[in-house]
Amino acid sequence: MKADPKVQRRLLDLQAIDTALAQLAHRRRSLPERAELEALARELSALEDERVRAQVAVDDLDRDIARLEKDVDQVRARKSKDEARLAAGTGPARELEALQHELVSLNRRQSDLEDAELELMEQRETAQGVLDGVERRAAEARERREATERRRDEALAEIAKEEEFKRNARQPLAADLPSDLVTLYDRIREDTGLGAAPLTGVRCGGCRLELSGADLARIRKAAPDDVVRCEECSRIMVRTNGPGL
Ligand SMILES: [Zn+2]
Repeated sequence: MKADPKVQRRLLDLQAIDTALAQLAHRRRSLPERAELEALARELSALEDERVRAQVAVDDLDRDIARLEKDVDQVRARKSKDEARLAAGTGPARELEALQHELVSLNRRQSDLEDAELELMEQRETAQGVLDGVERRAAEARERREATERRRDEALAEIAKEEEFKRNARQPLAADLPSDLVTLYDRIREDTGLGAAPLTGVRCGGCRLELSGADLARIRKAAPDDVVRCEECSRIMVRTNGPGL
């Protein structure tokens, strides 16, 4: 393939734009916010599990407290009935004495139930504190997620803007070059990430290998408008260091 040396050198400008575009694509893929958001998603999921467990603990205690409350109500009702019967003072003395005994034991039962209820209410307060703590941490994590999403979106917008800028510069440059040269360049670039590289001294700028003597002889013999390629990496080598090479 043949191309004017000046045209060949413009391939390097095209390559500079394509390298910048590849770097932007890499930046988009490896934004630190992506990893941060994944870590935050894991954290939020663990916090949700924790929240469910804390809520269950509170609900269990509420149920136990309600049950005790009902027991206390039953004891109170029974006490009022007994007290009413005692106040009426009717019935045999033995029965009245039994009622008094029962009242003593009902009072003890009520006191035990109330102690147990108090104990459960203290436990509930602790459990509620745990639940509140988990919910606070989840709210903080959600705030951090929102802030991270904002930063990610800003970074993506910035990358998109730079890409558009580069693409706008690439389009007229590529259109200005011979289409067979650009096609060859694009094919090599798609295969290797780099389509054209300068030949600096005796080194290929693509694979960084020194050219063999035979290769150098071949390139020295080539006409200036010959498009020469590296034997090692097959990239287009653009001669930049004047005659002789
Ligand atoms: Zn090479």
